[in-house]
Amino acid sequence: MELMGKTKVVIIGSGMSGLFAGALLAREGVDVTVLEKEPNPGGLLASFRRRGTWFDTGVHYLGSLAPGQVLWKYFQTLDLFPLCQFDQMDARGLEEYRFPGGYSFQVPQGWDAYEQHLVDSFPAEKSAIQACVRDWRSMAEHFPLYNLNITFSPEQESEVFSDPKAAMPLREYLKQHFSDPKLRACLSANNALYGIAPDECPVYIHALIVDSFINSAWRVRGSSQTLCQALVQRLREAGGQIRLNSRVQKLVSENKRIAKAVLDSGEEITADWFISTIHPKQMLGLVDDQAVRPIYRQRINRLEETISGFVLSLSLSGEGVPTPRRNYFLHRTWDTAAAYHVKDKEAWFNPEAIFVSPLETSPGYSRTISIMCPMPWPIWSAWQDSTRASRPEAYRQTKERIARVLIQRLEEVWPGISQRVEFWDGATPLTFRDYTGTWEGSAYGIKKGCTQLRESTLSVRTRSENLLLAGQSVVLPGIVGATISAAAASGIIMGFPNLIKRLSQS
Ligand SMILES: Cc1cc2nc3c(=O)[nH]c(=O)nc-3n(C[C@H](O)[C@H](O)[C@H](O)COP(=O)(O)OP(=O)(O)OC[C@H]3O[C@@H](n4cnc5c(N)ncnc54)[C@H](O)[C@@H]3O)c2cc1C
Repeated sequence: MELMGKTKVVIIGSGMSGLFAGALLAREGVDVTVLEKEPNPGGLLASFRRRGTWFDTGVHYLGSLAPGQVLWKYFQTLDLFPLCQFDQMDARGLEEYRFPGGYSFQVPQGWDAYEQHLVDSFPAEKSAIQACVRDWRSMAEHFPLYNLNITFSPEQESEVFSDPKAAMPLREYLKQHFSDPKLRACLSANNALYGIAPDECPVYIHALIVDSFINSAWRVRGSSQTLCQALVQRLREAGGQIRLNSRVQKLVSENKRIAKAVLDSGEEITADWFISTIHPKQMLGLVDDQAVRPIYRQRINRLEETISGFVLSLSLSGEGVPTPRRNYFLHRTWDTAAAYHVKDKEAWFNPEAIFVSPLETSPGYSRTISIMCPMPWPIWSAWQDSTRASRPEAYRQTKERIARVLIQRLEEVWPGISQRVEFWDGATPLTFRDYTGTWEGSAYGIKKGCTQLRESTLSVRTRSENLLLAGQSVVLPGIVGATISAAAASGIIMGFPNLIKRLSQS
């Protein structure tokens, strides 16, 4: 790897994708510098501390981490397991969906157990359930990048989209297959995991996300900060560096290549390769038309975003509330798209659906809980000129109002919980915009929705031969998606045969 020792790579952003790419390339002998605008690394992977309590920002559980599964292979390649422990979610119910009338459905781990539980709950639809499980598993099996077929070509991409079942809206698919609206709701209740309404989400996105968690679901022991620290440690051990408080302001082109990154401070950093893991629309703000064609710029800038969110982080008194290792999706209607199609501004403050993630702080108990609900940018855009340090009073009051509603909703799972809240912290679309730089606070980056399926499928390569893209907007949202995109970008630099060898050795 002597040749690789001379290769210099600058990575913009230290979220999951930036740290993974950085650590992977550094272990190959590449000279890696990760540039992060914040004083702490991790982006959505970082945890934050309030009054001595740690809260996770954007990683509440991870999928496919059992030996041999997709994320396990990637993590094993970096030898992360000695540095970071993972606890498996409850085998009988990694997720629980609650609907009107006290109806609840728990999602067991493993496809066979999941299928059986669906059949037991909706016996009249047995054959349709079996066909659906076959469809979804087959979509996951055939999605190239997800299956470590990292050389994913445009031809393979067309294959995915030419499968009409994979490209159709989830809600339409469910209507065609099932007559019971309760079953349809159970099969689309966890859409908050990717932030696309079931009437807009292509079946393959849902199938991939469901597959990654059904295969096996895990929590980082302690907090997601541990995983962040493990990645930073592996990066540094291999000679890579991470520079904090280093916002990239510009990427300067010369002869259709990126020559250097310019920081806010004016410092210039040259490299052979640049990997941008930031939101693609933010990346466009850094480059000129030599780096990207105007038509590409227009295409990306026109793309819709996944919805943003309001995230409430709660600290409870005493030992907290009893709970298995499980996340909850609480729906007020059987229409699982309702949370996205809210007409009245006021109604956003009283959401149709919320995601609840209790973090295990002692065996079987949780003292900290994250609650997330969809929240569109326009509700908060009146305060878009404010900064983290200068939010106006009206903004704070709006946060408080939503916090009260969300805390009250938790009574459904844990009666009496509202009396046990010690303190809370709320993140809004403005928080996400300012903290991770995501466009209009979008939770999962660019929306891979049915109406922009091809346009939203981004290549890792750009017109500039040494500028690569990674991050949650590229392949798939979530930790699995961010990791896959990072591996794909790294593969271009270190060579795919080399990458595949590393992955297969794990
Ligand atoms: C509330 C929430 C909950 C979630 N829960 C889960 C979950 O339970 N499981 C799961 O798998 N996924 C979850 N996700 C999704 C997952 O967290 C993300 O898909 C993933 O972490 C994104 O990683 P990334 O590297 O693409 O981006 P990010 O984590 O956003 O990292 C981008 C980094 O770039 C930095 N940056 C931006 N601009 C610049 C610049 N100009 N110069 C230098 N640095 C810059 C940012 O500060 C940031 O650190 C959740 C997301 C949200 C919002």
